[in-house]
Parts: sequence; C-alpha cells; structure tokens
Amino acid sequence: METPRTPVQPVLWSGWGDPGKATGLDPAVRELLAESLGVVPPAGEPAGFGDVRLPATELSPFVLDSLRSIVGAEQVRTDADARIRHTRGKSTPDLLKMRMGDGSDAPDAVVLPASHHEIAGLLSVCTAERVAVVPFGGGTSVVGGVVADRAGFAGVVALDLRRLDRLVSVDEESMLAELQPGLRGPQAEELLNGHGLTLGHFPQSWEYATLGGFAAARSSGQASAGYGRFDDMVEGLTVATPAGDLELGRAPRSAAGPDLRQLILGSEGAFGVITSMRLRVRRLPAERRWDAWRFPSFQAGRDAMRALAQERRLPSVIRLSDETETMINGGTGCLMVIGYEQGDPPRFPGAEHLGAAPAERWADGRFAAPYLRDALLGAGATVETLETAAHWSGLPRLYEAVRLALEAALGRAIVMCHVSHVYETGASLYFTVATASGDDPLARWDAAKTKVSEAIGLAGGTISHHHGVGRDHRAAYAAEIGPVGVGIMRAIKKSLDPAGILNPGVLIP
Ligand SMILES: Cc1cc2nc3c(=O)[nH]c(=O)nc-3n(C[C@H](O)[C@H](O)[C@H](O)COP(=O)(O)OP(=O)(O)OC[C@H]3O[C@@H](n4cnc5c(N)ncnc54)[C@H](O)[C@@H]3O)c2cc1C
Repeated sequence: METPRTPVQPVLWSGWGDPGKATGLDPAVRELLAESLGVVPPAGEPAGFGDVRLPATELSPFVLDSLRSIVGAEQVRTDADARIRHTRGKSTPDLLKMRMGDGSDAPDAVVLPASHHEIAGLLSVCTAERVAVVPFGGGTSVVGGVVADRAGFAGVVALDLRRLDRLVSVDEESMLAELQPGLRGPQAEELLNGHGLTLGHFPQSWEYATLGGFAAARSSGQASAGYGRFDDMVEGLTVATPAGDLELGRAPRSAAGPDLRQLILGSEGAFGVITSMRLRVRRLPAERRWDAWRFPSFQAGRDAMRALAQERRLPSVIRLSDETETMINGGTGCLMVIGYEQGDPPRFPGAEHLGAAPAERWADGRFAAPYLRDALLGAGATVETLETAAHWSGLPRLYEAVRLALEAALGRAIVMCHVSHVYETGASLYFTVATASGDDPLARWDAAKTKVSEAIGLAGGTISHHHGVGRDHRAAYAAEIGPVGVGIMRAIKKSLDPAGILNPGVLIP
C-alpha cells in the first residue's frame, strides 16, 4: 500500500483553493463591469472566519462517545474550524452564504475514519441513533451535494474520507489500480505516475476534489475525449451501506443481470459510502501537446467536433468556445483547443490554424478560473456556471434556450458557453454567466436557475452532464426520470439505507 507524499492542503473556507493564489481585479476590469453590467461594489466587507454564525452542536455525549470509540477521540472534531470547513460545497450560492457569515448548514461533528471497517461501524451507530451522515470528499460539489436536511435527525455528521488515501495495488497486466476514495486528484496522479501510469482525469476542480467524489457525482474531466468520463474508468467498487457491504465488478463486462455499479456511480452519498475503487489506468504518455484553431461560428466548430467523434478520431482534449467566451478571452470567432498525445493533431479545412500558443495559454491557466470567481464576487459581480447535454441534433435548440432563459431572467448578463465533452451521438454545453450581484444575489441567482432548469427540460437537455443532482437539481431530476423512475430511486434508498441517514435531502426526489 502506498500513500502520497503531497499532504492535503485545506481549501479556502469562503472561496476556492489556496489563499496564497487569490487574485485581484485590474481597475480596468472593474470599470468594464460597472459599464457593461452595472456592477457596483458591495456595501460592506465579507464576513471573516471568526464572524461565521454556527448553530450549537446537537449531538448527545453518548453519540459522540460512540463515534470516538470507533475512530479514536482525535478523529471526531466538533471545533469551529472543522465544522466551518465542512459547511456546504463550492457553488456560487454556497460561497455567497459563507461570505455572509451564514454557518447554519454546518455539521455537528466531522468524523475522519481510516478504513472500510470503521465506516461500516459508524454507519451502524448513526443508523441506531438516527444521525444523518454526509460522505465528504473534497467538498467541491456545486449542486448542494454535501448539505443534509437535519429535520427528524439527532444531528449531522460529515464523514471526511481524506484518511482513505492509499494506492492499494496495481495490476499492470489488466491495467487496473485499486485506489481509496479520499485521494485528491494530484495525489492519485502522483502515486500512479510513480508506476508510469495515469488516470487522465483532470476536471477543473482536480486539485481539491477526490476520487470518491468523482465516482459519486459522475465527474467528467478536461481530457474526457481521450480518456472517457470518470464513470467509464470504474471497473469495481467496494461500498459500505447501512444494510451491509457491496462488492461490485469482477470482470470488464458481464451479462449477470443489470450492472449494479451503475447504481453507485452518481449515487452522491445517498446509497452508501464508496470505500475502495478498481480503476482502469493508462500508460503515462511521453508528452502532452497542444494545438488551436479559430472557427467562423460555434455551429461550424461543433460540426467539426461531431465529425471527429463519429469517425473515432478524437484527441485527448477538445474544447470549443462560443463567440462570447472567445471574445472575453481576447480572441475572435470561436476558439478550439486541442490536446493530443500521439501522432498528428486533427486538421480542419474551413478553420484558421492558430498553432500551439493559444492552447498552451489555456492549459497554463486552466485551474485558475475559480480564483477569478472569488475576485469577481468581491467586486460585486455574481459568476456561476451550469451545464447540460443533448444529442447533436438537439444541441442548437438547447444552446439558444439556455441563453435566452438566462438573459430574460438576469437582464444585463454575459453568457458564455463551451463544448468540452463530446460523444458520437452528442455533447455537453457548459455555460458561465456573469451579472451584477444586486441587493439580493442569492434570490437573483435562484430565480434565474429555476427558469433555466425549466428551459433545459423543455429543450430536451439533461439537468446535468457532470455536476450531479445534489439538492439543487432534485425537482428537475424527478421530472427527467418520471414517477416510475422516482419510485425506483426511493425503493433502492429504502433497501440500502432504511433509516434514511445517508445524505438526506440529496439526490432522491
Ligand atoms: C471550481 C470548480 C470546478 C469544477 N470543475 C468540474 C469539472 O471540470 N468536472 C466535473 O465533473 N466537476 C467539476 N466540479 C464539480 C465537483 O468538483 C465534482 O462534482 C467532483 O466530482 C466532486 O468531488 P469531491 O471529492 O469534491 O466531492 P464532494 O463535493 O465532497 O461530494 C460530492 C458528492 O459525492 C458524495 N461523496 C463524496 N465522496 C463519496 C464517497 N467516497 N462515497 C459516497 N459518496 C461520496 C458526497 O456526499 C456528495 O453528494 C467543479 C467544482 C468546482 C467548485
């Protein structure tokens, strides 16, 4: 068993990432925001760490002692620091609430188990004592995936999985690695790279999100065109549920009934806790190279992506920005970024070749955008993202429907879009929106999100391609799967978690 050398750094409690990498805003950008969007700086300063209002801990001394008897006293934390750092995820509304000093969703305690056995023990205590349990990876959910309903429970515990951080084994013959769920993206790559292997999974949240979170929320990374989504990489899973253990996946494909791994992928902590994973790995490429093209229109770029996907000639990274996103990043037309690892990159007649530089610039800055969001929030601009997917023939309608819904709901807003996950039959659309925060930024965004979710449903898109359902998308998810689908989800929940302690309020409509 190998553990990573890189220790886990805490994420900024009210924003993104490493506080040392926080970025400021150029005065010219502030002026542009004021002129184009009517952004005015917020009246007061955001709340400091010491200003966060935390509810009193509800857990009884008996429950706390029972938890301590399983993981050890030092691994059950009830201090303000631990509770604040496990309050909510990292959506813009989550950050806005933290900046207002609202700690009302804080767990009563944070528990850090180190093994499957300890997790199974914790689930039994929490079931017996009716304590809600929130499986917590990196806490980077942007759909309310780590906030539990506390009504009817004797308290809420965040189950932080960071101590399950081992590379358990490597089977180079089958190209499989067994890894534990608390490993963050860079830690997992460090361990695998030591064997000349890679997962090839690089979502924008890679630095802080965990393997367990990638599986539980069906994550998709920037190199999905070449390496697949995270759920494509999962060959086997070990899961602790209140009803007992699940050991799933013993062959690459099986005709032994429905594939129960699919029940756990995307289950967002509501069915069980993933305690180990057998993941498909690939050889670390000798090099990762870049290329870029300018397309005359978003549709022309999408047509080129579709052709590559259908001819099965996709590079590892392919990403196309629409006109607005390209313009905001200083370009014209529609920028396509290509990342490839072998052979020659694709060529596109009818598009202008820009060489490697624009793509290298994108690659260098690809994990920096969340820091910019923090700076914009501080300046009085709300910036949020949302994503969906559809088949190729439905994409133009979906693109227009989302843009129109956002513009109608928000008035002055910049709505940008890119395509970065493509399949033979369709693709995802990823939108970034910037608008003035106004007097009540939470209500303003909530109203817009409701409208845009309706528009996605009406235009035939899915409510999420890779962020998941969480609390925020439950209603839209129910509409998407219909009453029979809702009944199935509730029945599975009842079977695996009869007391309903796992992540109450998340996923299950
Ligand atoms: C700035 C930013 C950029 C992002 N970019 C991307 C992107 O490019 N691609 C993408 O797919 N997503 C992206 N996300 C969303 C998020 O990072 C992903 O959903 C990620 O998979 C969450 O991982 P996590 O470890 O942080 O999970 P958490 O946020 O801790 O948890 C997510 C959900 O999974 C459950 N869970 C976590 N671990 C386990 C476990 N071991 N067993 C059972 N349930 C578990 C939780 O209870 C919760 O419901 C981004 C988020 C942010 C804030």
